Amino acid sequence: MLRLVESTTMPISSVTPAIVLRSWSFGESDKIVCFLTESHGKVTGIAKGAKRSRKRFVNSLEPFSLVNLRFHDRPGTSLAFIQGCDLIRFFKQLTTSLEKIAHASYLMEITDGLSGERDENRALFAHLRDGLNFIEESGTSVLFVTFFELKLLMLSGYQPMLSQCRRCGKGWRGEGQWAFSLRDGGILCEGCSPFRREVLPLSREALGAMVQLQRANGILALHLSSYPATVLRESHLALLRFIQYQVGRELKSAPFLDAFSTS
Ligand SMILES: [Zn+2]
Repeated sequence: MLRLVESTTMPISSVTPAIVLRSWSFGESDKIVCFLTESHGKVTGIAKGAKRSRKRFVNSLEPFSLVNLRFHDRPGTSLAFIQGCDLIRFFKQLTTSLEKIAHASYLMEITDGLSGERDENRALFAHLRDGLNFIEESGTSVLFVTFFELKLLMLSGYQPMLSQCRRCGKGWRGEGQWAFSLRDGGILCEGCSPFRREVLPLSREALGAMVQLQRANGILALHLSSYPATVLRESHLALLRFIQYQVGRELKSAPFLDAFSTS
């Protein structure tokens, strides 16, 4: 005789520190929230009743929140069930000026764009957390944004090659007119640039700054660096174009950030 055995197994819960990247309303009472977690990569889940019962999710589903997330997976859907979310820290200072909001939103959007669902990457989580913390405590600068972009690209597996030509392998020694190729993910020498239709011309100074910042050990090392504002801006704009190319769409926060990226 055939017996149907109903599974009584309870779903297995996961608990992890997480940063709220985005959230939006779903139906009358629910919210969908996208997190970058420490141990499960990006997790998108449904918070049932989040719009009605603020008790279960007290201020913990807003962007710029570092939380302790409890969730479990549901069969047949990639949308997790959010059981609870306890606020560890709200980066309050990030919301005190438009400039900080613009920078923090940009950091979150590019990290979101370059990270994968359920792709564990603890270093990437720490990088975003430290980046938000840096803006909270030290403010903003193009130098910091450029450093953040370079390290993010490295941690997410898109590190651009800046030491030698991507096409012929010639080493860069600070001479000549080199260019950045979005398609090749790195620099091209003067002889190879004409072989690509879409390249960004890059000044010697901007390329030099990117090479140095790519090697910088941490955010604190930035205090030792000094570059002209125009050089940093050129480096940042090249990296922004490269990130947009990898993400495959225009970044919503980029024009907002651009309004503040003059120093
Ligand atoms: Zn070449």
